[in-house]
Formats: sequence, structure tokens, C-alpha cells
Amino acid sequence: MTRVAYVNGRYVSRRSAVVDIEDRGYQFADGVYEVCEVFRGALIDEQRHFERLAYSLAEVQIAAPLRPGGLAIVVREVLARNKIENGFVYVQVTRGVAPRDHVFPHPPVRPSLIVTARQVSPEIGELKAQKGVSVITTPDLRWKRVDIKSISLLPNVLARQLAHESGAYEAWLVDCSGMVTEGAASNAWIVCENGTIVTRNLDHSILRGITRTTLIEIIAAQGLELAERKFSLEEALAASEAFITGATTLIMPVVRINGKKIGDGIPGPITLKLRAIFHDLAARST
Ligand code: PLP
Repeated sequence: MTRVAYVNGRYVSRRSAVVDIEDRGYQFADGVYEVCEVFRGALIDEQRHFERLAYSLAEVQIAAPLRPGGLAIVVREVLARNKIENGFVYVQVTRGVAPRDHVFPHPPVRPSLIVTARQVSPEIGELKAQKGVSVITTPDLRWKRVDIKSISLLPNVLARQLAHESGAYEAWLVDCSGMVTEGAASNAWIVCENGTIVTRNLDHSILRGITRTTLIEIIAAQGLELAERKFSLEEALAASEAFITGATTLIMPVVRINGKKIGDGIPGPITLKLRAIFHDLAARST
């Protein structure tokens, strides 16, 4: 758990960290966020996470909360103050504090910025990956701009809760044409019988996962075949391997979908290989 948080310009103890009840993040989910992995003291793909944050902010017209380079300093300070070696850093920016009104405050108010960090042992993920995880599927009820990493996550929360109640780890979201979009908190992938790795193409209906982006480069460097295209639930059920990607899960084998075994019902060799090499090839910054 975070012991020290950065809240709007100050480093404060977790217990005394507070935000205003009229913060638009609290009242409208009017904000965006990032989660970046910390592995052996280094930030993984930090630059890409900052670029995506800038994209999300621009798409919802929230100003950058700090000058260029400022966020990198704050993130490092939060990691140092919490003594994080392995885990995650969470960055959230909202439009700021103003009397409740849907229309943007005019003149604009200062965006709110919070940064927290959490220590998580990598062994927990490794143990999970050795067994693989189960996913269930549920209709994708989200809005039409999920390429923006918005803090408005109610459909994702409900989908994850459904997965949890079904004894599964993740929920794959299925669009109205029966095509898998992505996981509630991850990108979705399958490996076809012929070895082609498939993940949905980028558009407004999925998040441009940073793990996804880096993995695509790794797949190319390994000489493996990749297809960025839509795939159906039926195709996923017939796949020889499946996995999910995300900063908190890395490359996590999926061994069951809706209770049906994928391949032999154990983590697949391509998935495990990609997981094993991910940290060697992803960008690290300290
Ligand atoms: N898709 C959704 C809906 C997510 O919430 C996440 C991560 O939180 C991802 C995909 C994976 O993104 P990343 O690899 O940047 O963590």
C-alpha cells in the first residue's frame, strides 16, 4: 500500500491525503490515468506511458498538470519515498475542482494530480502465470472512446466483478458483432493453430495498451507472425493459446474461456516464451 502520496503539489502520508469533494474526478469521473510497472527499481516503458497520458489529456481537453519533465520527477520521488523496488505507480489527472456543472470551468481551474505507488512482489504474477488464468466473456457496455484511458471505469468494474464471482481472473468484452474487443483491464490475444498471434486492431474500441505496443515489437523481433484484426469468441475458443497483456499482468496465459479449455488447458509455449523475454526487451528507466 502507498505510504506517501503526491497530491496537488505536496507529498503527504496516505492517511492524511485528501481531495476536494467538488473535484470533477469525484463528481463526473472527469479525468484520465496511467499505471506503469516498476521492475527491479526501473520504470518499464515510462516514455510510452507518458505519451499515452498526454494523448488522453489532449483528447479530453485537460491541460498538462506539470511542465515537461515534472511528472517524471514526481513519479521518482513517490517511488523513492515508498521504497518501491517492484510494483506499480499510479498517476491520475482530473479537470480540477469547481462547483458542480457539466460544462468545463471557465476560466479553467488547475488540474488535480495525484501519484501513488504500490509494492507488489513479481513472484505473485509468476505463480499465476505458471498455472494460467481463466476468463469469462460479457457484453462490452463501455462508451465509444475507450482509446482514452479515462478514470470512468464502471462497466470495467462490473465486468471484473462478474469475473470474480464466476471464479475467473478477467472478463473479455464482446462487441455486438460477437467480436472480442479486449479485457476489462487488459488487451486480449489468441494464438491460432498455424502459430499466428492475433490481437484486435487499434481503433476507438480498445485501449492502445503499452504492453501490447512493446509486445508487438518483440513478436516482430522474434520472427513470429502477427495479425492485428478482430477475432470472434468462437475463434478464441478454438485457438491453441490465449493470453492477456497489461502493465499489471504482463503477458498472462489464459487457459480457460467460459470454462472451456484453451489448447491443452495449460499455458502455451509461445505465451510463456513471450512472457519470459518481455522484461529483457522492454525499455527500462531509472
Ligand atoms: N485495456 C484496458 C481496458 C486496460 O484497462 C488496460 C490496462 O489497464 C489495458 C488494456 C492494458 O494496457 P497497458 O498494457 O498499457 O497496461
